[in-house]
Amino acid sequence: MEFSFCQKEGDSMSKKAKGKPWHSKEGTEHHDNSLCTEGKKIVQRLEGTGQKPLCQECGRLNRLP
Ligand SMILES: [Zn+2]
Repeated sequence: MEFSFCQKEGDSMSKKAKGKPWHSKEGTEHHDNSLCTEGKKIVQRLEGTGQKPLCQECGRLNRLP
């Protein structure tokens, strides 16, 4: 019988706030992390990426453990 000590995935992922992408009409980037300060500023959210690149902060937040 074997025990798996190296299971890093699972619980550690639960803190992530990645969700559906959104963007603003004027913005040059899209967001998909609800913790992003720039993303939070957007009042009139449009669904989807708007074919814009992902915001840097969202990318950083998404990589956090
Ligand atoms: Zn963002």
